Amino acid sequence: MGQITRNRPASENRPTILIVGAGPAGLVLGNLLRAADIDCLILERQSRAHVEHRARAGYLAANTVRILTDNGLAAGLLRNGQQHDTCMFRTDHGSFELRYGSRGRGEVHTVYPQQDLVRDLIAEYLDRSGDIRFETRVRDLNDVDTKQPWVTCESADGEVHQWSCEYVAGCDGQHGISRGAVPADAAQRYRRDHGVSWLALLAQAPQSMAAVAYAVHANGFAGHMARSPSITRYYLQCPRGHDPASWSHERIWEELHLRMRGELHGRLREGQILERGVVDMSSYVMDPIQYGRLFLVGDAASLISPSAAKGANLAVMEADVLGKGLVAHLKGDDEQQLRGYSAACLPRVWRAQEFSHWMINLLHGPMGDDDEAVFLRGLQHARLESLRTSRSYQDFFAENYVGI
Ligand SMILES: Cc1cc2nc3c(=O)[nH]c(=O)nc-3n(C[C@H](O)[C@H](O)[C@H](O)COP(=O)(O)OP(=O)(O)OC[C@H]3O[C@@H](n4cnc5c(N)ncnc54)[C@H](O)[C@@H]3O)c2cc1C
Repeated sequence: MGQITRNRPASENRPTILIVGAGPAGLVLGNLLRAADIDCLILERQSRAHVEHRARAGYLAANTVRILTDNGLAAGLLRNGQQHDTCMFRTDHGSFELRYGSRGRGEVHTVYPQQDLVRDLIAEYLDRSGDIRFETRVRDLNDVDTKQPWVTCESADGEVHQWSCEYVAGCDGQHGISRGAVPADAAQRYRRDHGVSWLALLAQAPQSMAAVAYAVHANGFAGHMARSPSITRYYLQCPRGHDPASWSHERIWEELHLRMRGELHGRLREGQILERGVVDMSSYVMDPIQYGRLFLVGDAASLISPSAAKGANLAVMEADVLGKGLVAHLKGDDEQQLRGYSAACLPRVWRAQEFSHWMINLLHGPMGDDDEAVFLRGLQHARLESLRTSRSYQDFFAENYVGI
């Protein structure tokens, strides 16, 4: 255990807002606060290089692009992002394309890798004289139900610091410590394990088609999603507890070709597998997502399966709502918005969860030949048929796929 440095509660050592985590949630919030000249400090346990290269999301919804644009944070994505308005489904019964950009509210996705967005947000935050400490792990949050919360953190050299502040924003993701600071009886926690896992792959290869592709196959789901001109994300449904290393390069591409029905639609453009990992589809919602002076944002507040690409978008939406609430309170003496943070965000979180759950059922038929599995696959086929043929079903899909 390192030496404890107690920071004097002088203003330069007592940021108004302390943000735990430099993912999309923490960085958008930090930028909104700095734009309003509110002092804040971001503590991030990883190095700057690590967070700037961590590949995850890529599909930014219209509302996310609007928030980033309105706050001067969208230069990179407007310059380099690609607009996507179509997805395709490949099944044993045929394939079809859905141009969601011309259905529903007519909104499209902007494809821009999350790590590029994080890089832009860090640069902009530093330009706005924001203070960020990398390789600084927050160990615990204390007294968050008082007017003077404080945190203990440890830097890479083992030195332990304490910071006090007026408000804490827990933006530390799925594996962070912030939500643990909310007592068990102060919030309802909703959890669901969807029982499905994906092998998530990042390939050094251009996209194989100009759309997101979802393949429903007897061997399991496969997905194709653009990221950048030379990088494509692929997913393969795999058994729970699977070791990603057990898939050879050849087996990965063979299985992707098979499930994507390459023999019918053209072979995929292969490349080196740069990253692989298993994602277990699970959901988590906490209600409320605020406790005393602690506010949870992004994956720390609610975790959503990546089936509908909503996680980063919810993180930006929540950061925007919280940022506006904090600015209204600290600059305008209006506490109403801040008090209403949970109530403003949770209905949208639940709608995203509902759509994501619907997508899981759309994309994954149960395996096996028992009566229940066969029946549920019949329902899955009917759902895909509705999506292929019904304009109102397509409107529902489009509105929820890009929106919320
Ligand atoms: C394979 C994959 C694909 C995805 N695809 C999509 C997609 O297409 N679209 C989409 O919208 N979403 C997608 N997501 C989800 C999206 O990436 C997350 O929802 C998003 O990163 C959440 O942002 P966040 O800022 O809340 O959390 P994070 O990005 O996880 O950031 C949290 C930060 O807190 C830091 N931290 C954690 N604990 C501590 C601590 N104790 N002290 C200090 N720092 C700490 C972490 O190092 C991290 O940098 C995907 C996720 C995965 C895994």
